[in-house]
Amino acid sequence: MAEKQACDRCGSCCRQGGPALHRSDITLLHCGRLHRHHLVTIRKGELALQPFADKPTPVTDEFLKLQGRQGSWCCLFYDEPARACTIYEQRPVACGLFDCTAPEPMLAIAGRDLLTRYDCLDADDPMAELMHRHDLQFPCPDMATIAEELSSPAKRKALLAELCPQVNGDLAFRRQVAARGELSVAAELFYFGRPLFQLLLPLGIEIRETDTSLHLQ
Ligand code: SF4
Repeated sequence: MAEKQACDRCGSCCRQGGPALHRSDITLLHCGRLHRHHLVTIRKGELALQPFADKPTPVTDEFLKLQGRQGSWCCLFYDEPARACTIYEQRPVACGLFDCTAPEPMLAIAGRDLLTRYDCLDADDPMAELMHRHDLQFPCPDMATIAEELSSPAKRKALLAELCPQVNGDLAFRRQVAARGELSVAAELFYFGRPLFQLLLPLGIEIRETDTSLHLQ
């Protein structure tokens, strides 16, 4: 296929996932264009695809990005039939810079001045304490190390046994908070990131659900 000379609005950048938000994007929350339930926290340790990279690498500092939809990373603001952004006039700063035919401007800001969930909270927001507690009790493990150890038959069984209580504890914590605060699943992704079990699925771990807990195999 011939190399593109200019952006032809093919939409592949929006389909691969909304961008990481930068500090200046806080104005989009302040003006009400974006809400917490539009965002997902990508926690330290998760595997994420950096702009123009061809394989995911571990995240060193958490950040926020736009949520996907219907189980995919396709940006929730992407209008597929129209091949257009539904918030074009107020899209995040990285969206305005992303151009696969000219990566330099995007690469210049990638990983810098990123917005986090904590930047979006008021000083007295009661969720802050829960977020800190969740991070302490259920930190996201380094998924690259997990992936490597899972590929070793000698380590796999012990690792799954080690991860199982973490997976179930993480889920129980979320359910408890949701039951108390009527937290939607979308808002939960902002406050606590994706559940640990979801992060393990792409690594080839199968999850079996019983009446009381999840089992990993
Ligand atoms: S906000 Fe708009 S431009 Fe940015 S990824 Fe989503 S659909 Fe694409």
